[in-house]
Amino acid sequence: MCGIIGITSNKLVSSPIINSLKKLEYRGYDSAGIATIDSGFIKEVKCEGRVESLEDAVSKSKLTGNVGIGHVRWATHGVPNTINAHPHSSENVSIVHNGIIENSTLLKKFLINKGHKFKSQTDTEVIVHLITEYLKKDNLKDAIIKVLKKLHGSFALGIIFKDNPNLIVGARRGSPLAVGYGPGENYLGSDSYALKSMTNKISYLNDGEFCIIKKDNVEFF
Ligand code: GLU
Repeated sequence: MCGIIGITSNKLVSSPIINSLKKLEYRGYDSAGIATIDSGFIKEVKCEGRVESLEDAVSKSKLTGNVGIGHVRWATHGVPNTINAHPHSSENVSIVHNGIIENSTLLKKFLINKGHKFKSQTDTEVIVHLITEYLKKDNLKDAIIKVLKKLHGSFALGIIFKDNPNLIVGARRGSPLAVGYGPGENYLGSDSYALKSMTNKISYLNDGEFCIIKKDNVEFF
């Protein structure tokens, strides 16, 4: 089990993401992390241990940005350390994941043959590289559809993109995922508890659904 949160807003998102991660700590506490689109680039801050340590690291890093994702981890693939902490990112894509990708070994071989370099021992990192690979030829929606078809196993995902800096993609199969609606901002979260301090307008993704969340609208596919 892991906890995920995403916020796209008019305002800075790192503190509300940290606050939501504190509520999600019951879902995982071996490491925690956050990524935002900060001055046009994906910037990650992650650490081993509890959200409290992440909060310190984030305040030292002066992380800014109006779109971001966060994660508390309960490791299934790869030891609990900072490198294996989520989010996992390429230059253009950053992901938080709750679940298990059962065919990650096979997908990793395919991606290494295409020249992708892996940093972590997690199953999750294959999703980052697969999306990065498909985005070379496909638009965002087609790339997501193709990647989700390739994954075996369970997932709730929150994904941000350097080249589409205003949105978050959410997707689920098996693992739970909620969307929250607020004034000038919208959210993604593992449960309503994570979103409660920001909104009580919440809906749940159906199994197999994905969504594109912008600060003023949410589309489901
Ligand atoms: N499989 C991922 C990892 O080990 C996510 C873990 C989970 O959802 O519990 O990092």
